[in-house]
Amino acid sequence: MKNVKINVTIWNEYIHEKKEPSVRAIYPDGIHGALAKKLAAPDLEIRTATLEEPEHGLTQEILNNTDVLLWWGHAAHEEVKDSIVSRVQQRVWEGMGIIVLHSAHMSKIFRALNGTSGKLHWREAGDRERLWVIDPAHPIAAGLPEHFELPYEEMYGEPFMIAGDAKIVLMSWFEGGELFRSGFTLQRGNGRLFYFRPGHEAFPTYYDPNVLKVLGNAIRWARPTLSMPYPNTHAPDPLEKISEKTFKFDKVGIIKE
Ligand code: ZN
Repeated sequence: MKNVKINVTIWNEYIHEKKEPSVRAIYPDGIHGALAKKLAAPDLEIRTATLEEPEHGLTQEILNNTDVLLWWGHAAHEEVKDSIVSRVQQRVWEGMGIIVLHSAHMSKIFRALNGTSGKLHWREAGDRERLWVIDPAHPIAAGLPEHFELPYEEMYGEPFMIAGDAKIVLMSWFEGGELFRSGFTLQRGNGRLFYFRPGHEAFPTYYDPNVLKVLGNAIRWARPTLSMPYPNTHAPDPLEKISEKTFKFDKVGIIKE
């Protein structure tokens, strides 16, 4: 019988936690380790991967066996090899879900899938953040209150350079007055993408029950609904008989008889 669990790979560049004692104090096993522990559930098979591993821990075999990939990066976007980014993009096109976290808005993989620069305004002042559920019927919003707060977070402000087909699930208000589209979805090929803003490494955001609820919902929503090569195109035989033409043509145009 086919394994019905969702195979989740949590990828983290894993740099701040090693370099900065204050971050390590919050996430002693790394952000990936904390998320793996907090998101653990009977229907999830969770593994982690980090930048320093061979092929960044994202071999073709691991990606082929990943239903949903979470991605946290900040300090080392440029160190991620283009060949691995292409491999991840291909898997999303085929149907793998991807959840892009916080500062990964500037990661190569998000910019490739989103299709714009991914830039935004930011401020590191420990603003209070209030997240509003904009689309309560969306599966990612299941079980959330109308709004919830994080006592301290980095501020991200609009304009946020995201694709025009983004569907907004959550929006943030910050103590300093800014607004931000904090949670949105995109479809890329067969794969689903969810971007979720909170998660600055200096704060214990990934222990917040509402944040974990969003991520848990997003993993289950982003699992593949279809997994096949994309685009799955070929040169089909016609379904109906095509009428005789009074002209002939080749690949560059009509050849008069
Ligand atoms: Zn940050």
